Amino acid sequence: MKLITRHPIPFALAALVLLAALWPLPPLVDAVTGQPPGDADLLRPFFYVALAPLSNTLDALTFLSLGRAWVLIGTWVVALAAWGALRPGSPPRRVLRAGLGAAAVFLLAAATVVVPRPVPRLESADSSATVIDYHAHTAASHDGRRGWSPADLAAWHAAQGFQASYVTDHNVPYPPLSPPGDLAIRLLPGVEWSVYRQHVVALGEVRPINRDSFSRDTPAMLRLFGELHRQGALAIASLPEYWENHREDLEAFVTAGVDGFEIVNCAPKGLAFPPAARRDVLELAAGHDLLVAGASDNHGWGKVTCVWNVTHPAAHGFQANHVFARPVALAQGAHPAWEAAITQPWLMLRSLGWSERISWLTWIALIVLYRAQPRRQGQAAGLGILARSLGTRPPDRG
Ligand SMILES: [Zn+2]
Repeated sequence: MKLITRHPIPFALAALVLLAALWPLPPLVDAVTGQPPGDADLLRPFFYVALAPLSNTLDALTFLSLGRAWVLIGTWVVALAAWGALRPGSPPRRVLRAGLGAAAVFLLAAATVVVPRPVPRLESADSSATVIDYHAHTAASHDGRRGWSPADLAAWHAAQGFQASYVTDHNVPYPPLSPPGDLAIRLLPGVEWSVYRQHVVALGEVRPINRDSFSRDTPAMLRLFGELHRQGALAIASLPEYWENHREDLEAFVTAGVDGFEIVNCAPKGLAFPPAARRDVLELAAGHDLLVAGASDNHGWGKVTCVWNVTHPAAHGFQANHVFARPVALAQGAHPAWEAAITQPWLMLRSLGWSERISWLTWIALIVLYRAQPRRQGQAAGLGILARSLGTRPPDRG
């Protein structure tokens, strides 16, 4: 009992880890049915699970919509700085603790974007199917990470179980003139055309177009679908990012010959796509037997995708492609931005598997045991320095 009152935060966290299991979220869901896929699994490597508190936190920070990301970062910076400043101690020590609290949030955010780490991979039980990404970028895009080569992109995909990916740089058709060399997976030709208030992902060998002639208004934009067909490519409307722009035009997209719609997009803006808009698009696509797709929309930042496609290369239409997404990502459009600092951690804890929950509890127990260790005054080894500088009361002795 004494242990609990002396270490309230670790014990509260342990209680939340266990409590969240009462409202479990599956590791993956089919974005069309909302149900866990029967024939695909999310495999988590040993070190991903061993470091679960870090792995899960960095994943949860990756799957934040833009608005929720700002609110979460802002709230936690203020909360941790205030916590550091308000705990007892000399003024310089309080200032130091407040600074460390705020810095910790920025460090975690930076780690989310760039630090290499073990990542989960999708494995499909259907050996005749291909795990594919329809929309991803290299450094050839104006907003792609500098130096993010096709080989880097292929390795990023391979680590997560993808067998192929289209490369869809902004207004720069792939493949480039110089061959990309050895690649971990097959990269397929494509491009993402920016036209009138809409991004259209073209899948296949494409020729340059005069974008001006598709950028005047909606009818002009819709002619792009026919042009892509003449080139032998498919036209997919990348809806999640700009869904509000053409909300009333989706029937016209179909009439003009669009081949499919993105229904999940892992870019921070695309993650805000609301479930109601997704349902409308699904209904339309199902009614016209059109493809629905998920897009990592990777630009070289972040280590994990929020979505995979499992497809049969020869098949067409609504049933041909299965979109499997992480529930935390799908929930972004359903939760208002202002509550992100609370709902994102809660969604993360709900989606833990039992191996991850045990990893969390083990880490919490280790930290409590370490901090409960009686220590002589002045014997401040290792983490003890950090614990004390954060204001830990020296444990009672004798
Ligand atoms: Zn894109």
